[in-house]
Amino acid sequence: MLERVNTWRSPVQRVGLIGGGQLGLMLAEAASRLDVEIHILDPDRSPPAARVAVRHVRGSLDDPAAIAELAAGCDILSYEIERGDPGALRRTGVPVEPSPATLEIIQDKLVQRRFLARAEIPMPRFAAIEDDDATTVAAFGYPLVQKTRRGGYDGRGVVIHRGGRSDGTLPDSPLPWDNRCYLEAAVAVKTELAVIVVRSRSGETAIYDPVEMHFDPNLNLVDAVIYPPTVTPDERERAREVAGAAVAVLPGAGVFAVELFVDDGGAVLVNEIAPRPHNSGHLTIEAAETSQYEQHIRAILDLPLGSTAFHRSAVMRNLLGGPVAGPTAYSGVAAALQIPGVHLHLYGKRESRPGRKMGHITVTGTNAWEHAHTAWRRIGVNGTV
Ligand code: ADP
Repeated sequence: MLERVNTWRSPVQRVGLIGGGQLGLMLAEAASRLDVEIHILDPDRSPPAARVAVRHVRGSLDDPAAIAELAAGCDILSYEIERGDPGALRRTGVPVEPSPATLEIIQDKLVQRRFLARAEIPMPRFAAIEDDDATTVAAFGYPLVQKTRRGGYDGRGVVIHRGGRSDGTLPDSPLPWDNRCYLEAAVAVKTELAVIVVRSRSGETAIYDPVEMHFDPNLNLVDAVIYPPTVTPDERERAREVAGAAVAVLPGAGVFAVELFVDDGGAVLVNEIAPRPHNSGHLTIEAAETSQYEQHIRAILDLPLGSTAFHRSAVMRNLLGGPVAGPTAYSGVAAALQIPGVHLHLYGKRESRPGRKMGHITVTGTNAWEHAHTAWRRIGVNGTV
């Protein structure tokens, strides 16, 4: 393998990415240091990754013609969002990592649950929405979680029902109560963790320590990520084991982010898996020996994986667009950068919308939590401050 790598010419490889958002930007930054070209497919005029990518095909993520155009100039395809059409990706004839088969499993959360259940991966109880829903609802009780099978992200497509209608057993729902959704028993969540698992094309595997995720209860998206997590050594080890076992049954190479619940009895359950770099792994850029982004590039090109060791504690906070939709305007950047240990990432999105992910800060070193909070309060995006 090394022999082959050592004889590569510049550019080392050309990677076509489905999606060119912030994950694509950070992938492209890591790739450029290895003289690996990133080509992107993205519908926006100037998506974040276009600043670093060598080519931007403008088109819809699931348009077969656009996918074929992207593939034409590339040695390998990958993705930073799970929206690509698996069939169209296969038909390009260019290798795709992680495998389109994984994409098919992940794109439908109920299929994902059934697939992982066959491998006996611990998960919340789940059920399809069918004719005898009253039985399921009675068995699961309230609170009851209803999720859309496809296309949900950042908490959109998840409803937690607190109780049923007064006249019957089933709850009123803003989501369709049919086969487009499925049900889960609510877990009494003590802590939410994420574990990044990496597997290269030749099967070398590396697993990071878990990070702890805190969610914004209103927006239901990740608000803060913390390393080290506040869990017991046992829970930490179990999280790594469960994440490793879950990814072991999914085909393909790359980075996989496994979101986990630790319940109030200390059991570790898989929530969901993203077959790509993830918001919870941003802090690996500053706090780990090798970032999740570099690992993804190494894994899909079958290079040796880097060390997953964290060398310091860190806190990551997302910077979200404020209430004023329109051209992006930041405030308080200089004031935030005065704080020791602050690493600022602004994604360069030209338009801000309420709740849109516009950037993040990672703070390392002593007092990371206080410093992250102070820096986060100082930076405004379109009216957050
Ligand atoms: P998304 O893919 O939109 O991020 P998730 O399935 O991760 O949706 O759910 C979003 C959040 O909802 C989770 O992080 C968790 O806080 C809560 N949640 C989801 N499923 C359950 C469950 N079965 N029990 C308790 N809380 C849940």
